[in-house]
Amino acid sequence: MAQRVQGTEDLFGGYMRAWQHMQDVARDLFGAYGFDMVETPAIEQVDTFVHGIGESTDVVRKEMFRVVSGALFENLFEQGSEAGLKPKQRLAMRPEGTAGVVRAAVENNMVPQGAAPAKLWYAEAMFRGERPQKGRLRQFHQVGVEWLGAADPAADAECIIMLMEYYKRLGFDPSRLKLSINSMGDAACRPAYREKVRQFILDHADEMCEDCLERAEINPLRSFDCKNDHCREVMRDAPLAKDNLCDDCAEHYAQVKRYLDAAGVTYVEDPTLVRGLDYYTRTVFEVEAVDGGVGAIGGGGRYDGLMELEGGKPTPGIGFAVGFERIALALAAQGGSLETPQPGCVYVAGTSADEREAVFSATLALRQAGVRTEADYQGRSLKSQFKQADKLGARVCVVIGPDEVAANAVTLRDMETHEQTQVPAAELVSAVTARLAK
Ligand code: AMP
Repeated sequence: MAQRVQGTEDLFGGYMRAWQHMQDVARDLFGAYGFDMVETPAIEQVDTFVHGIGESTDVVRKEMFRVVSGALFENLFEQGSEAGLKPKQRLAMRPEGTAGVVRAAVENNMVPQGAAPAKLWYAEAMFRGERPQKGRLRQFHQVGVEWLGAADPAADAECIIMLMEYYKRLGFDPSRLKLSINSMGDAACRPAYREKVRQFILDHADEMCEDCLERAEINPLRSFDCKNDHCREVMRDAPLAKDNLCDDCAEHYAQVKRYLDAAGVTYVEDPTLVRGLDYYTRTVFEVEAVDGGVGAIGGGGRYDGLMELEGGKPTPGIGFAVGFERIALALAAQGGSLETPQPGCVYVAGTSADEREAVFSATLALRQAGVRTEADYQGRSLKSQFKQADKLGARVCVVIGPDEVAANAVTLRDMETHEQTQVPAAELVSAVTARLAK
């Protein structure tokens, strides 16, 4: 029997409703902040991610699932390399949402010069070829936002405030969330800072792992969150971004913190917080659930250079992404749950096969009126239909027997009290909806 791919999950039942709930809460909350939903394709040209996320990142180098059509696959197999492929033929599954949304914003001119910012949110599956483990999947789901065209530090603060409110509405106790923030500088101050960190790593080469030595040349800031504990310890003495910000970045960061303070948001400043993707500038942030046991449950930051990297005009941007599976795990670890109960329904029961057509019509009429309605499709006895109705959480059962058919009526059975009343068939919908509203 074929099995699902390791590191992927099937979403159904309560788990599916949890994912929908996460989207519903996002739609309400982000909508109030002026964000509209967007969906970009799950496959993009590899270049979209190389330009945006950065050639040197683990995500692009090792974790992207590459896509080839069957015809191309055979060709590639024969040639043994992708060297002959055109950029249009080099495709990948999206490992994150930002690069694709920014590519779409450039391609569709969503932020024309002088126009109001584009404020977009998405709820999509992401794909990363990581080693599967708890809270680390190969296909996972993110809710994210991208706010393009706003350089104002208020946008950074509002994103963070909205994110923390989102966790609260999903059921997290805010006192058990840890929000870390940092500023990574910009094109004016980061190159010199990066060079200082590179030099620091080279000066401590004999104490650092192979990966960090490689990182020193391509992405030295990543050594701050090396998986090797000893490297991280050495990096504690490395130069910190906050001490190397230019005046503009320092003022931007200070203003973000003033806004957060004014909104009463609690945060810790973590000068070693560097997010894994190259495109971040200035503000970066990450959220962990205390005792959640799954690492970061969300994070984001500013990416003022990204629109240009994707071929657009210089346009500031900021956003975040929140992982559904990790939220579900972290909430469960804290004793909560994202799952919403299955919505109740009305059950239409027939006493015998003779009433099947009357049951059929009543079921349709209720559904047409928007009432979630179930019936029997397996020839069950009346008793077993009542059992089924209970299992489905039906509050009301519509019972149709020969007497009801003869009287052109239906019997309504309250599933809690088992009290029964007959009403004319013409009043079926109004009588049922009145009972459900009680
Ligand atoms: P990132 O784009 O790596 O910052 O990820 C943003 C959020 O997505 C993280 O904070 C996690 O909640 C979630 N996430 C990232 N990678 C994975 C993964 N492999 N499996 C499940 N969730 C993930």
